[in-house]
Amino acid sequence: MTELSNEYIEEVVKACRPFASKGSVIGHIPGLDQSHLTDLGVTIVTLDGKTYSAGEAEHNFSIQSISKVIILLIALEDFGKDIVFQKVGMEPTDDFFNSISNLESYEGHRPYNPFINSGAIATASLIKGGSVKEKFNRILDFLRTITENDKIYMNEETYDAEIKNGARNKALAYFMESTGVLSAQESDDALDLYHRVNSIEINALALAKIGCFLSNHGRIIGKKKQLIHAEHVRTVKAIMLTSGMYNESGTFAVEVGFPLKSGVSGSIVGSVPGKMGIGIIGPAINKKGNSLAGGEVLRLLSKDLKLNIFHDENS
Ligand code: GLN
Repeated sequence: MTELSNEYIEEVVKACRPFASKGSVIGHIPGLDQSHLTDLGVTIVTLDGKTYSAGEAEHNFSIQSISKVIILLIALEDFGKDIVFQKVGMEPTDDFFNSISNLESYEGHRPYNPFINSGAIATASLIKGGSVKEKFNRILDFLRTITENDKIYMNEETYDAEIKNGARNKALAYFMESTGVLSAQESDDALDLYHRVNSIEINALALAKIGCFLSNHGRIIGKKKQLIHAEHVRTVKAIMLTSGMYNESGTFAVEVGFPLKSGVSGSIVGSVPGKMGIGIIGPAINKKGNSLAGGEVLRLLSKDLKLNIFHDENS
């Protein structure tokens, strides 16, 4: 079996970088433009505390939809599974991440799951706090804690751009208000919180540490404190496997086989149970919103390092 090393990760980056040329970089995020098309950074942090990195792993980009993982973890910790899943479903969907039509059809108008935009906005409405600022600071503090990086911050310019380009998200929030999923006060605050959390800057190391935290059942590696109940971490990872890559999640479950979550900045977080966290930044995305080169990295890592959770010595 392939040994994990910096040289190996460098080879993976070299082999996968060309796949970026078939994608495009999202237009409206400050700091991201076509000049970043072939960027690719990968960091792996193993549960025994070793770090491996290659490519543009140091680059900072906004977290975008990986925020949905953090929002769900905290909402579950704040309210528990029963209340959270009264607000939002746990089923995959074949629609795009910002689809509005599925809000009309699904049971009680609930969003299908917490990892599409409507679902994340609904979940954000459950974060405890006296104001959006307080709720946001809880999320930021939690992210700083689990990545062991106090410098993580929200990029104001990205936040402005999220609002400016947020018409679809507003439509989703107000549609949910019209059907009673959210109250009038909840919809504005949840939308603002969602846009703020999406605008947090992150790099591949921080993403890998998020993955590691999940792989380590809700504890920072080397530390004993249980920051999120293991049961909630398990729930989040199950939804990452079924819905973390939007309407391409089935393909990734088959071809990669461990929990993942992507964001439109081309970022991906992967959590390999009992083994490692994986952070990828590869801004060229496909039509479904997933990093093209990043997807190839995951396929290769899964095959070479035998990371598929459905793999055992007999298969
Ligand atoms: N900012 C994007 C949005 O709200 C995030 C979505 C994503 O990363 N897929 O539409």
